[in-house]
Amino acid sequence: MRKLAHFKEPAYRHWCTARHTACRLGSERGHQLNRADVVIVGAGHGGAACAIALRQQGYSGSIALIGSEPELPYERPPLSKEYFSGQKAFDRILIRQSSFWDEKEVRLILNSEVVGVDTTLRELKLSDGSAFGYKKLVWSAGGAARHLTCRGADLEGVHSIRTRADCDRLKREVDGGVRDIVIIGGGYIGLEAAAVLTKFGCRITLLEAQSRILARVAGPELSCFYEEEHRAHGVDVRTGIQIEGLEGLDHVSGVRLADGTVLPADAVIVGIGIVPSIEPLLAAGVRGANGVVIDEFCRTSLAGVFALGDCTAFASAYSGGEMLRVESVQNANDQAACVAKSICGNPEAYRALPWFWSNQYDLKLQTVGLSVGYDQTVIRGRPADRSFSVIYLKRGRVIALDCVNMTKDYVQGQKLIEAGANPTIEMLQDSSVPLKDLL
Ligand code: FAD
Repeated sequence: MRKLAHFKEPAYRHWCTARHTACRLGSERGHQLNRADVVIVGAGHGGAACAIALRQQGYSGSIALIGSEPELPYERPPLSKEYFSGQKAFDRILIRQSSFWDEKEVRLILNSEVVGVDTTLRELKLSDGSAFGYKKLVWSAGGAARHLTCRGADLEGVHSIRTRADCDRLKREVDGGVRDIVIIGGGYIGLEAAAVLTKFGCRITLLEAQSRILARVAGPELSCFYEEEHRAHGVDVRTGIQIEGLEGLDHVSGVRLADGTVLPADAVIVGIGIVPSIEPLLAAGVRGANGVVIDEFCRTSLAGVFALGDCTAFASAYSGGEMLRVESVQNANDQAACVAKSICGNPEAYRALPWFWSNQYDLKLQTVGLSVGYDQTVIRGRPADRSFSVIYLKRGRVIALDCVNMTKDYVQGQKLIEAGANPTIEMLQDSSVPLKDLL
């Protein structure tokens, strides 16, 4: 016999329409399984965007959005920027206000984790033991912050910045007087955290295992520029660093490096990437490992199951066929639109041009394209002026740009990438000539 749904109170906090209430009551009486035509797992950027896109495209079936966090869907980028610094209150980073979900008849089932997928019955198992049926499933569960595996990794005072709860926990420590902070990982999140924490008067040491920061996502020119910027703001940036363990009894007190040095730390922030949240799908037999493998319509290998956002691995139209995971708001939103089109019967292959941004100090970095496999870089403008672009080429064609305080290049460079333009190095270097003239 099928297990009937039984939700804890918070799970149906946002079931407000008459139709949904009826459905809930039915299940409570044991007559009806909780179900929706489209069930979206993960109420983050991509999940919320998919529900919105479905309604925008006229989808009239029932939609349920199940998320493990207690909050309404919110924007994650401000967690290491304006929300952390206090420039934006939480209400201002909500993707939509509460009333929107009711008006659009999207059931929000929050504080609820999906732990199993039965693709034969088309049913999900939730962490409270209840079941939830679907006709189409959209998996948009993002990823969990990757943790250190060394000694002391689970001490008090060791933080990630992935959720609002993570961010609030760290803020409380900083408000409580924590000043010596070691950040492990020189990717965008670690660097943004360093920039924002210096404003609070914290003394920051940033440790990176590779020989330069941002090594996974950018060329050496950009790494070098940002290393200098952070040092100029008082951040002690150290590269090529191996960590032996974290020191402390209950609360972290220091970071021991492989060379025996111990760096004092009131708090440690770990920014070493994410682990895609796909265990239930993998257990159901989906193709994938570091991400659910999807095709150009965001379909997984399981019938009726789509996936999108940070948890997916796919061959981007801009990666030269290489399978990768793209962790960005653009990718989550555009894949969400792609899934919605398929569900609405108007499938369109995913070909969106990747873009990304990062704010550190007064620097606005805007990235477009994917620099995967580049064989040449060109600097346009002068890094010393704090306004320049790094242009990435592959076999003579422009494939990506990193633009620092250079929005014009960012906007015009998109066209060069889309057109597969192959201007000469001299033309690209000449910042007196707009990029749009090089088409
Ligand atoms: P998420 O937004 O992570 O949403 C996934 C949701 O699914 C989460 O709420 C999670 O709790 C939930 N979930 C997981 N497993 C389950 C389960 N089994 N059942 C139910 N729910 C589940 N991108 C940019 O483009 N620019 C930036 O400047 C930028 N800055 C960032 C700063 C920070 C601090 C962080 C953390 C990310 C940043 N990103 C940025 C990345 C961007 O936020 C992500 O790429 C985007 O949120 C991905 O959307 P998603 O829907 O795939 O995943």
